[in-house]
Amino acid sequence: MTTTKAELYGVLLDMRETYRAKLEQLENSKQIDAPGTGYSNHQADDATMVYDQTVDASTFNSVKNRLRQIEESIARHEAGTYGICENCGNEIDIARLEALPYTSLCMRCAEVRDYRAGM
Ligand SMILES: [Zn+2]
Repeated sequence: MTTTKAELYGVLLDMRETYRAKLEQLENSKQIDAPGTGYSNHQADDATMVYDQTVDASTFNSVKNRLRQIEESIARHEAGTYGICENCGNEIDIARLEALPYTSLCMRCAEVRDYRAGM
């Protein structure tokens, strides 16, 4: 049985809730991106603290980015363009969408992008 795009829409809506909750949790747990906290001002003693903040900020950003991808996918669903590669306009393989419902690139374009990003 193959997953349909309609089913993936339901998956995306669930994911959006999950990621919104996650983001809220991160926002409440720590004040990050505080203005004026330049790393250069910190002494060596603060290295651990800086490290922790960096980890938190990157977790926060990756959750935020993922949520944005999910929201964009939901918007594409509503526009009727879900499952179409943003880069080349080809249909994205349904197996890929099952694994990554929020992806906006087909396998080939994603590989090219990752290659360019040095991954
Ligand atoms: Zn493509």
